[in-house]
Amino acid sequence: QVGSSQGGNDEKVRVVVRVRPLSEKEIKDGHTNVVEVNQKACCVSVTNPNMAASSHSSDEPPKMFTFDSVFCPDSKQVDVYNLAARPIVDNVLEGYNGTIFAYGQTGTGKTFTMEGIRDKPELKGIIPNSFAHIFGHIAKAEEDQKFLVRVSYLEIYNEEVRDLLRSDQSTRLEVKERPDVGVYVKDLITHVVHNADEMDKIMTLGNKNRSVGATNMNTHSSRSHAIFTITIECAQIGLDAKQHWRVGKLHLVDLAGSERQSKTGATGQRLKEASKINLSLSTLGNVISALVDGRSTHIPYRNSKLTRLLQDSLGGNSKTVMCANVGPADYNYDETISTLRYANRAK
Ligand code: ADP
Ligand code: MG
Repeated sequence: QVGSSQGGNDEKVRVVVRVRPLSEKEIKDGHTNVVEVNQKACCVSVTNPNMAASSHSSDEPPKMFTFDSVFCPDSKQVDVYNLAARPIVDNVLEGYNGTIFAYGQTGTGKTFTMEGIRDKPELKGIIPNSFAHIFGHIAKAEEDQKFLVRVSYLEIYNEEVRDLLRSDQSTRLEVKERPDVGVYVKDLITHVVHNADEMDKIMTLGNKNRSVGATNMNTHSSRSHAIFTITIECAQIGLDAKQHWRVGKLHLVDLAGSERQSKTGATGQRLKEASKINLSLSTLGNVISALVDGRSTHIPYRNSKLTRLLQDSLGGNSKTVMCANVGPADYNYDETISTLRYANRAK
């Protein structure tokens, strides 16, 4: 279990921040950059644009935040993978669990970070890069090691679980718990995969199902959490001549947008969705900060579907990386500060 004796620096939980570049549209519209990154010092500073424009600029110095790593707008996907994701995936290959989250306001690069642009090799994100990493490891493994790799892909929308590998998106799956297996999703499809290409095809299928089930893909993806799970089992004959198994599980999570939906004047169904998104993201924040704190005796996993499903991969021997994504533009100032505060709490 997580205890204060383990301290914060054996890095069970790491928090990194990625700042995307100003988009062409933002530049065209005359928006300015209010986020400065100091990659060496692992720190981000944000200037309040309202203050800078007034004569009181000296009243409010830029707000500074420090993290385990920060990625500037021209960071490469491969750098993000090597620094933020690779250690987690290596740990999963050793038989531990791991979770990688992308957090942030819609439009700040969560999907770019997790999935990237898959037909451009240098723009592939963490998920496809992990496929190559995993099967590269397996190809180099010792003769007597046998691997079994399985994947599943689900989303949580409105606190309901849907299997993205099922063509019929109307089925809601139940979250169950058994003493021997822990928390699991009943009837969730898992595919055995043999190479990175098969994994990639499954991801494409899941993404297709995701957009089929949605009336408006943009709002849908900003309101749902997508969890791509890779389970890696490894069997090897030990010195005792017996077969030993180890199992590691990797969850790759593209979270719902963190923008405060209640402020958008949502009503009815939209407001209901909004409160559920807020609940799962705030529960996630509470769980992570309780784990980091190390002194909490109660970790509130059960308060949301998201944290319940990820329970066996948050805390304990698991490693977690939270990548907080922010936009650099002036008009995103409030959301950027709110994302950095959330991420800061998770350190
Ligand atoms: P989110 O999933 O958080 O809503 P997206 O990943 O869809 O955001 O990113 C929004 C837009 O910004 C996309 O067009 C994406 O390609 C672009 N983008 C995001 N991050 C970067 C980056 N680091 N470098 C270049 N383009 C980016
Ligand atoms: Mg997205």
